[in-house]
Amino acid sequence: MRWPGMPGLAPWLDFLCPPRCVFCRAEPASGHPPICRRCAATMSAGGPRCPACGRPAHGDTRCRRRFPAGGLVVLADYADEARTAILEAKRPAGEPVAAGLGRLLVEKHRAILDEWRLHAVVPVPMHWLRRMSRGTSAADTIATAVARGLGLPRRRLLRRRRATRRQNELVVGERPANVRGAFAARGRPAGLRILLVDDVSTTGATLAECGRVLVEAGAAAVYAAVIARADGWPGDDADAS
Ligand SMILES: [Zn+2]
Ligand SMILES: [Zn+2]
Repeated sequence: MRWPGMPGLAPWLDFLCPPRCVFCRAEPASGHPPICRRCAATMSAGGPRCPACGRPAHGDTRCRRRFPAGGLVVLADYADEARTAILEAKRPAGEPVAAGLGRLLVEKHRAILDEWRLHAVVPVPMHWLRRMSRGTSAADTIATAVARGLGLPRRRLLRRRRATRRQNELVVGERPANVRGAFAARGRPAGLRILLVDDVSTTGATLAECGRVLVEAGAAAVYAAVIARADGWPGDDADAS
C-alpha cells in the first residue's frame, strides 16, 4: 500500500497490513505487483523451452524456428494455474493479475531479454470494439509490466485494421488467412529492436503477422514474449520427419 504525502509511514503500514499476492490473494507478498513465493514458483513452472522457437526443449533435433526471427520466450505451460490466471487477466478486475504475469515473465527470462538488446515493448493490439466491450486488454497490461521490468518504453506501434474472428474458433489451417492484413504499423518502428507481447499464442499466426508488418515498416528485429504458448503449432510434432 502506498500513501502519497506520508512516505515515512509507508513501511509501517506495509508491516502492519502487508500487501496480498495478486494471484492467490491469501499470502502476504512482496514486489510490485505483489506476488507470493508459492505463486511465483507455480506460475513460472514448466519445463525448459527453446528460446528460438518456444517449443519444449528439443535437444539436438532441428529447431523449427518459424517466427519470430529473433526468438520467443514463454512464461508457463498453458494448463492449470496459468490458464486460470490468463482468463482472470482478460477481465478488467484482473489487471493486477495481468501485471503480475508480466513481472514474472521478465524475472524468468531476464538474461535472454537483456541479450536481445531491445528498444521497445509492443503489445499485440486488440480491436477497439472488442477492447471497449471487454474494458481491458490483457496484452496491453502485460506489455506495460514487461516494459517497466525491463526499463523500456511500452509503445503501441501496431493497430488492428479490422476485427478478426478469435483464432481459437478456427481450425489451424484457417488461422493465417484470418489475421492476414489485420494489422498495420503506426508510429515509427523503423530501426527498433522490438519485443512483441501477447497473452497466449495458439498457432503463432498472429505473432507472425504482427512481426511481418513491423519488419516491413523497418523494424531492425522482432522478438516475442507470451505468457503461454499452446503447444501444437503446425510443425511442433514433426520432429520425426
Ligand atoms: Zn500467491
Ligand atoms: Zn527451437
